[in-house]
Amino acid sequence: AAVPRLTDGTALTKKDFTSDQEVRWCPGCGDYAILAAVQGFLPELGLKRENIVFVSGIGCSSRFPYYLDTYGMHSIHGRAPAIATGLAATREDLSVWVVTGDGDALSIGGNHLIHALRRNVNLTILLFNNEIYGLTKGQYSPTSHVGQVTKSTPLGSLDTPFNPVSLALGAEASFVARTMDSDRQHLTSVLRAAAAHRGSALVEIYQNCPIFNDGVFDVLKDRTEAAARILHLADGEEVGTAETVAVRDEQGSLAVVPRDGADPARIVRHDVSATDPSAAFALSRLDSPDLGHVPMGIFRDVSRPTYDDSLREQIASARTGEVTDADIDALLAGR
Ligand code: SF4
Ligand code: MG
Repeated sequence: AAVPRLTDGTALTKKDFTSDQEVRWCPGCGDYAILAAVQGFLPELGLKRENIVFVSGIGCSSRFPYYLDTYGMHSIHGRAPAIATGLAATREDLSVWVVTGDGDALSIGGNHLIHALRRNVNLTILLFNNEIYGLTKGQYSPTSHVGQVTKSTPLGSLDTPFNPVSLALGAEASFVARTMDSDRQHLTSVLRAAAAHRGSALVEIYQNCPIFNDGVFDVLKDRTEAAARILHLADGEEVGTAETVAVRDEQGSLAVVPRDGADPARIVRHDVSATDPSAAFALSRLDSPDLGHVPMGIFRDVSRPTYDDSLREQIASARTGEVTDADIDALLAGR
């Protein structure tokens, strides 16, 4: 895509977004590829570096802000969405990003994540999912699968994992996507769409941790054909993958069935304008480790009022009423 020029006529490059910090992930970590894709994409925003902020929590992925030459904050475990919400609500001029992992976002910060999504704060949240706690050396996480043997589950995990895409849809997120570290082109196109979205965008990125959970996404890496990469569901498109498709039964309930046996009259079609995210949810349930595929791409991209815009409007309208500016300033300052 064309790189827009800044007001002074210059255009930034990947190099401008690369900091002088030594990158300290393990050799072969998927985070390197994600970092390179993000650094390569950021010039497309057409913003000055000082108008871009990356807020992270705690974990391997949360070292991200050090490596970008933007503003950034390596914050508190699970709390990046809360800090980023404050920033987005008060600084309309900033492009605010959250970088988090499966442990940080879905366990320690589960609450913060779902509430940022339902409020539709204008944030782009990148959730690196390696299905393990990497920084603390290999304990099971909320996305580890049942039976997974880890340092803290020597006999296998008993917990049902979260599907981050389903979770985000359930939290009313207005933009939800899934992509993968090793597919630079797909990752960049998803970043582009997420950045263009106004409101909370949740991007799950499958990320290989070669040290503690190596190769869990290799089955997808080998399937580079377009069928495994549903990029952007357009209005009226079928909800499905190459092998499976969502259908509605007589009662209107959704089920996922093999394509061969699906009754064409019952195939569910995507309605991007719908406020009901059930078609996107059905798509998110299509992942089938047995079939060796997982739907990738943009599951939902709808427009609704953002928290930060609504808050600014409320403050502006309060300022025009009986209340004086001094009253509002005192209120905002907590006096
Ligand atoms: Fe990457 Fe895993 Fe090493 Fe963390 S522990 S830096 S996720 S390879
Ligand atoms: Mg993790």
